[in-house]
Amino acid sequence: MHFCIQLHDWFYEETLATVDSASAAARRRKPRDRRRPPSAPPTPSTPSRISTEELVEALRPHLLSPKRMWTLGYPLEIDPNSSKAVVYINPPPRPRPLPATTWDVNAPEFVPGSQGDSGRGSLGSTPRSDSDEEADTVEHLCVRCDKMFRMTREGEYLKDEPCLYHWGRVSGDCRYTCCKSPLGVRGCSSARFHVWSGTRPGMNGPLEGYVRARSPRGGVYAIDTEMCYTTAGLELASIAVIAADGRLVYKSLVKPSSPVVDHNTRFSGIRPRDLARATKTLRDVQNDILGFVGTDTILIGHALDNDLRALKLLHGAVVDTCALYPHARGFPMRRSLRALSEELLGRIVQRGSAGHSPLEDARAAMDLVLLKVHEERANRTRISNQLPMLQPYDPLISAA
Ligand SMILES: [Zn+2]
Ligand SMILES: [Zn+2]
Repeated sequence: MHFCIQLHDWFYEETLATVDSASAAARRRKPRDRRRPPSAPPTPSTPSRISTEELVEALRPHLLSPKRMWTLGYPLEIDPNSSKAVVYINPPPRPRPLPATTWDVNAPEFVPGSQGDSGRGSLGSTPRSDSDEEADTVEHLCVRCDKMFRMTREGEYLKDEPCLYHWGRVSGDCRYTCCKSPLGVRGCSSARFHVWSGTRPGMNGPLEGYVRARSPRGGVYAIDTEMCYTTAGLELASIAVIAADGRLVYKSLVKPSSPVVDHNTRFSGIRPRDLARATKTLRDVQNDILGFVGTDTILIGHALDNDLRALKLLHGAVVDTCALYPHARGFPMRRSLRALSEELLGRIVQRGSAGHSPLEDARAAMDLVLLKVHEERANRTRISNQLPMLQPYDPLISAA
């Protein structure tokens, strides 16, 4: 334990030195890849130093309240010891449509009803239709192309209908970043099936299979997960957990419980051959996580609500970089980890078609949090140094 604290201490020193120089310089210069091994030795002359206890104290004001967690889509426990969760999902923000005069409804590529999306939102499902034929089916909204599609309750598609979608997001000029087509134009990519998120806008639950820590263990960790689309929606496929010193604490591939529809490789980085060698189930990973996460452990992540839903983990002490660095247009808009990482850490993540790396993303989230803590400490020091030296007021001298 003593060794652990010492290791944390010196690494905080090194990490903070790194993010300090990044915060000062990264905003001025073009971002560049600053990836480096996490085990780089500490810089002896670095003045900043923070212990585990100080870090926990510094993070306390940034812990999300239960109300905020609810708004952001975190799973919350229905009642103590029930292990059943409820989740409230906000309707995802939609891009603003182009002015009416720019639409050409006669264009062959025009698809009525298509709103365009990055394919990463959380959209919903309706339980049944009026038709007898469809009474045992569920209607879902495809998170990639926004079309409604039907599945049986056992997870079989009713129609063999391809999904035409844009994998890019919609940029400020209402064009898809994948193909530069204007909003509303038919998708530039295709997949064999539509996919859904596993949740719907509004209240979801009671949800089964959730776990939570039962006793305190301390510690501060950053978590990132990657998910695949299965017939049951998005499911956990990969996880990485790092300590505040950047040390890898846990990493695993995870076998989804339902058949995989799309590995989502562009975003998840998960390839079919990766899941073929996965041996752990969600239940195994939950048990592993609860081996080092306690009730008081602070978990850090970017849009950590997604990760905790995928992990089916109920946890009350969380710091979310989405809330720490809010979008200029406010919630439900969120800044991407990629943008925050480039702008504030001068580090490029999530580039290329190989997909995200949970380890890289967890480190970025941790460093963004350490950067915030460091800047707040530096501000406090600056303010206290600027206070004028006050002389004690002596009424006798004033009267004289
Ligand atoms: Zn496109
Ligand atoms: Zn689709």
